[in-house]
Amino acid sequence: MERDSMEFDVVIVGAGPAGLSAAIRLLQLAQDKQHELSVCVVEKGSEVGAHILSGAVFEPTALNELVPDWKDQGAPLNTPVVEDEILVLRNQNSSIKVPGLFVPKTMHNQGNYIISLGNLCRWLAEKAEELGAEVFPGFAAAEVLYNDQGQVEGIITGDMGLDSQGNEKDGFTPGMELKAKFTLFAEGARGHLGKDLISHFNLDADKEPQHFGLGIKEIWDVDPSRHQPGKVVHTAGWPLDESGSHGGSFLYHIENNQIVVGLITDLAYSNPHVSPFEEFQRLKTHPKFANILSGGKRVSYGARAIAKGGPQSLPKMHFPGGLLIGCDAGTLNGAKIKGSHTAMKSGMVAADVLFNQLSKGADYGVDAAEFQSEFESSWAYQELYTQRNFGPANHKWGNILGAAYSFLDINVFNGKLPWTLSDSTPDHAKLKPANSSPKINYPKPDGILSFDRLSSVFLSNTNHEEDQPCHLKLTDESIPIGINLKEFDEPAQRYCPAGVYEILEEEGSKRLQINAQNCVHCKTCDIKDPSQNITWVTPEGTGGPNYPNM
Ligand SMILES: Cc1cc2nc3c(=O)[nH]c(=O)nc-3n(C[C@H](O)[C@H](O)[C@H](O)COP(=O)(O)OP(=O)(O)OC[C@H]3O[C@@H](n4cnc5c(N)ncnc54)[C@H](O)[C@@H]3O)c2cc1C
Repeated sequence: MERDSMEFDVVIVGAGPAGLSAAIRLLQLAQDKQHELSVCVVEKGSEVGAHILSGAVFEPTALNELVPDWKDQGAPLNTPVVEDEILVLRNQNSSIKVPGLFVPKTMHNQGNYIISLGNLCRWLAEKAEELGAEVFPGFAAAEVLYNDQGQVEGIITGDMGLDSQGNEKDGFTPGMELKAKFTLFAEGARGHLGKDLISHFNLDADKEPQHFGLGIKEIWDVDPSRHQPGKVVHTAGWPLDESGSHGGSFLYHIENNQIVVGLITDLAYSNPHVSPFEEFQRLKTHPKFANILSGGKRVSYGARAIAKGGPQSLPKMHFPGGLLIGCDAGTLNGAKIKGSHTAMKSGMVAADVLFNQLSKGADYGVDAAEFQSEFESSWAYQELYTQRNFGPANHKWGNILGAAYSFLDINVFNGKLPWTLSDSTPDHAKLKPANSSPKINYPKPDGILSFDRLSSVFLSNTNHEEDQPCHLKLTDESIPIGINLKEFDEPAQRYCPAGVYEILEEEGSKRLQINAQNCVHCKTCDIKDPSQNITWVTPEGTGGPNYPNM
């Protein structure tokens, strides 16, 4: 069957903050300058927002520029931050509050809002559509469309209706070619097309490797007497410090007597017995969490990687026919644990650059190289640059000493110290052998504050057509039960927050089972597999989690 093909001026992959801000800005410019422009946004989730998972304390800087009257237009920013609290958890019972004077200024949240980023994206998509964007949810961009010269000419959406062996079922529909003069890749952290483009155009030459964290999050309905709307709590220390791992937690009092709570585990951890999922479950048993959650009801669960390497890891963001924006490139500010505002700004700068090119008559294959300097002179990049040493300092010296260094670097010297710390070992290369790493005995879930993976995945409303090709590709089928099992006790069993990877023993021999239908699209396996043997590709469009308000 022939593929259908459609043509646009700009195709945008991903309806997250970066992609939608780019669409809005492009069409605002087109309206202002009375220049006709066709913009299409493809989104793999069943609807916009279905795959968005964030904290989120939102800094409205970029939104103020993009839609200055967002309040009047009903943007879902309903809970201003009223209080920040930073705690160091010393062990499973005790904690110390960090005095305000010693709190890094990146962690001050006055002027910010606690939001559901998924709901903000739904609202941004409405704005983009009002301006004339064609937003196609349920369409995964499965491949980059390269021309004979290796330039980008758009994308191919995923085939629908293949069985697990790749044979066509009844109702098979081949993916469509969506061609565009420019394609913006805005897939978020560890985008699978972004990964392909970085390798195809060697965009990360001379850059530090990208670094990641895995964020696991839940939403709870809690007793109103325990709820303080607008309160923001961050913690470091226990439980991750017991295994020498790094990361931190968040607990935000959002509207409607809900609490969002989560743990970001730095994926540079070295003990292969670590299970980020179980670390998060025991975190909630700490009195600082239990006192708020007790008597409440967990209503939602999800997980997503964050890209937090900072400017040292930011690849070249332009190539013939397209740009890489937002967390697909790695524009998150790790010191603030915020990436929505910088992702939005990268999309807005991209729109300015592409509109300029298109109004000059740019055709296929143009490399809008000026995007790099335009982005680097924006406030978003300046912010990343002044806080560039935060991540490497944490990896070198740990959360507490690293934070002390960052306090001096950022609060005292305003990021102007004349050096840039390096962090050159990729996260997947950090694991130590299992037999020389201390085992961790995680407590059994109590079903009140802590839960197992399967009941958690159930709350992510994850759904995939079961009879389709597995979207988690192994380069070498023998590695999981070979070197990975021998050296690292196959860590996929523990780092996957959705129970996708299981080692089963049958008649004395072991085999890997991949429960691809559970996958919440967090991308951790693609990042952390020590043999870099797992490649995450898009399943059929609409597959994956269905987050209501993550
Ligand atoms: C646990 C956690 C807590 C966080 N807390 C905060 C916070 O408090 N404040 C803050 O500002 N930031 C926070 N962040 C970071 C923030 O969420 C990201 O920086 C931001 O979402 C990046 O926006 P983006 O548009 O680049 O990508 P995303 O928001 O990831 O959006 C990408 C979109 O593209 C879609 N997509 C991906 N691939 C394809 C494809 N091939 N085809 C079609 N569609 C595709 C995805 O489904 C998704 O909808 C947090 C992140 C996590 C995980």
